[in-house]
Amino acid sequence: MCCAGYSNEGTRTVVNDADLERLHRCIELAEEALLAGDEPFGSVLVDADDRVLAEDRNRIADGDHTRHPEFALARWAAENMTPDSRAGATVYTSGEHCPMCAAAHGWVGLGRIVYAASSQQLSGWLEEMGVPPAPVRPLPIEVVAPDIIVEGPAPELEDAIRRLHRRCHLGE
Ligand SMILES: [Zn+2]
Repeated sequence: MCCAGYSNEGTRTVVNDADLERLHRCIELAEEALLAGDEPFGSVLVDADDRVLAEDRNRIADGDHTRHPEFALARWAAENMTPDSRAGATVYTSGEHCPMCAAAHGWVGLGRIVYAASSQQLSGWLEEMGVPPAPVRPLPIEVVAPDIIVEGPAPELEDAIRRLHRRCHLGE
């Protein structure tokens, strides 16, 4: 691994400026979630023509820990998009899909994923903060759904995301 973790698996590519703009929106949604008492994660579904079709944020505060934005967007896509349009779509997300969400993304046949922070980064930050490990392993998306094109992380956004998680877990 080299500078800033741009490519930690060897197969991932660097996100571009247009991608960064979408990822900024994901971080806004993550902050909205945090302010509502949920965990700071946000995601945006964009079609092949770069139009935003749907957005969502984490909604687990009511006790249902499957209410991740990537899972909600996969189900939205299954209900509202054709298989072809799903295949051409991109899901942007503040944190890499967990195994549940990567599976949902793969099952509904969505296209590319661009994330800001990796599950590996998040796990490290949570461990530093003394947060107990999650009940589900933080597997990389490629392990769960190997055919999906995955891009990330975006080192420019690392600090912003890390700060949101510190606010969430440490109240800083
Ligand atoms: Zn998830």
